[in-house]
Amino acid sequence: MGHSHITIHNKAFRPYLSAAQLEEAVTALAARLSADYAGRLPLFVVVLTGGFMFAADLLKRFTGPCEIVFIRVASYEGTGSTGEVQEILGLREDVQNRHLIVVEDIVDTGTTMQHLLPTLLAKGPASVEIATLFFKPASLKHELRLRYVALEIPNDFVVGYGLDYDGLGRNLPDVYVAV
Ligand code: 5GP
Repeated sequence: MGHSHITIHNKAFRPYLSAAQLEEAVTALAARLSADYAGRLPLFVVVLTGGFMFAADLLKRFTGPCEIVFIRVASYEGTGSTGEVQEILGLREDVQNRHLIVVEDIVDTGTTMQHLLPTLLAKGPASVEIATLFFKPASLKHELRLRYVALEIPNDFVVGYGLDYDGLGRNLPDVYVAV
């Protein structure tokens, strides 16, 4: 990976996690999910847009049969969470009696998941778990059971590997942190 700072929208970022480090963490999480869901047919519910790259790498390494759908829930502006969560868009599948795994880019305050989980539970699934690439424990404001976390990170703003800063940076294979 590059070892120098990058600039996005006039904001400086430094290298934080390499593609190899991300791959290692994602591979380990995929192995756990593959073992835990063996013999079941889970429905992965990928939260767009930030989760797209993590989901692609995670699900390539998930060994059992599964189904995959994509939803949208929230908008996020600048470097602070808006706390505003929109309704679920794009979930047309019948999730009743299904084992759902919500695939998220990052759990920060937990507000997004706090709103999403009851909405999903109201549809009568057999189970709902969260699989998140990043978790910022110091930032969490809600009681959330996070069974599948690839990486815990400090309360800093990160970009790359699907995560953006005002629309840019999602394509970066490495993750950078604001300096
Ligand atoms: P929460 O609702 O848990 O506070 O925030 C979840 C959402 O906030 C994530 O899906 C993501 O879009 C955004 N978010 C939180 N922290 C970061 C961060 O460090 N970088 C980026 N790019 N987005 C973040």
